[in-house]
Amino acid sequence: MNAESLTRGIGMTSERTRRRLIEQLRRQGITSEAVLEVIARTPRHLFVDEALSSRAYENSALPIGRGQTISQPLVVAKMTEAVLTGRRLGKVLEIGTGSGYQAAILAQLADQVFTTERIGELARQAKQRLHRLKLHSVFVRHLDGRAGWPSQAPFDAIVVTAGGQVPDALFDQLAEGGVLIAPIGEQGGVQQLERFVRMPDGLERETLAPVSFVPLLEGLD
Ligand code: SAH
Repeated sequence: MNAESLTRGIGMTSERTRRRLIEQLRRQGITSEAVLEVIARTPRHLFVDEALSSRAYENSALPIGRGQTISQPLVVAKMTEAVLTGRRLGKVLEIGTGSGYQAAILAQLADQVFTTERIGELARQAKQRLHRLKLHSVFVRHLDGRAGWPSQAPFDAIVVTAGGQVPDALFDQLAEGGVLIAPIGEQGGVQQLERFVRMPDGLERETLAPVSFVPLLEGLD
């Protein structure tokens, strides 16, 4: 089987399984048509190792190497819906590029996405995938994202995809009316997905759902 027919094969299987995933996300409470549409057309199988590609449209997190995971589609959908709030986004910052999948979803709903990853190998792979998919409005950096990306601030949305506490530097880089979403709590334990909105008189905070993310770590690897 040559490479082209292999891709076609995956394409046909994924068409059906992708539709099933979208139905599941709807049943689990995702209502934003824009988010569902973007998830439906984004090839998640290209963000995991080939050996796992047949499971790419299951609603589960999957390993991406180096002890890290690509988030569960439901969690990606929830986080995206939580920052979107019905409007198109300008600049978005993501902490924890991982596979690049969440960045690919955000890129289709925002003008520019700046994403940081502390593991060099994952940052490199994500960059290649996003380039192959012609998502040229995503900028990937091998950085400790706890400091944010000050030269591009302020951001309309900040999406933290590793669990722990949110450093103040990130709140400082949130535009007025901007939304920050992050899994907050004990590393390795249960975390709560929290949503913050920068209002003229401070931050508004709302708890969305219990989640489980890999930890937000210090320094580079
Ligand atoms: N958003 C990813 C999944 C995130 S997994 C996706 O769509 O696939 C969390 C990622 O955060 C891991 O790759 C981990 O290496 C990274 N990470 C953890 N601490 C970090 C930090 N301080 N700065 C940048 N990336 C970090």
